[in-house]
Amino acid sequence: MIIDIDKLPKDGLELRRNFEFPSLELVEEEAVFLQPVQAEVSIKRVDEEIWVKGRVKTVLSFICARCLSPFEYPVDSAFDLVLLPEEMRELKDEFDEEDADRLFYRSRRIDVREVILEQLNLTFPARPLCSESCEGLCAVCGKIRREGDCGCQVKETDSRLETLKILKKDKRT
Ligand SMILES: [Zn+2]
Ligand SMILES: [Zn+2]
Repeated sequence: MIIDIDKLPKDGLELRRNFEFPSLELVEEEAVFLQPVQAEVSIKRVDEEIWVKGRVKTVLSFICARCLSPFEYPVDSAFDLVLLPEEMRELKDEFDEEDADRLFYRSRRIDVREVILEQLNLTFPARPLCSESCEGLCAVCGKIRREGDCGCQVKETDSRLETLKILKKDKRT
């Protein structure tokens, strides 16, 4: 969805629509969309600046980094951005620190779909967890811990090493 900024109404533009993205476009590799993305966006031009404000809402399925189970990850996130024309970046000789986070638009156009996708990707945690208290998998049998006690004797430290030692002793006798 491309917006020509020279055709923006003076009072700005209000959009409310659903976007469908292939899950492949997400930064989180194993994430899958369970719902389309509901977006509310208002776009307003102030001189050469474009103010883009809005909200993205959807539900995704993530894989927990500890127990490796899929879990639902709802997103409901607001954003508020100012985009500058790319020519402004090119005019500058020096690229200072402050500009590193700046957003630019190209050829007097704004791709709303791209903005939405980027904002969505920014909401993802670095390490998705089904819950903060997820205990992961049993180090001995690999069973998901929250699904119940598997009965394994696990000492938090080096349980595998202990098992190896016992095996070696057995061989000697
Ligand atoms: Zn988990
Ligand atoms: Zn176990």
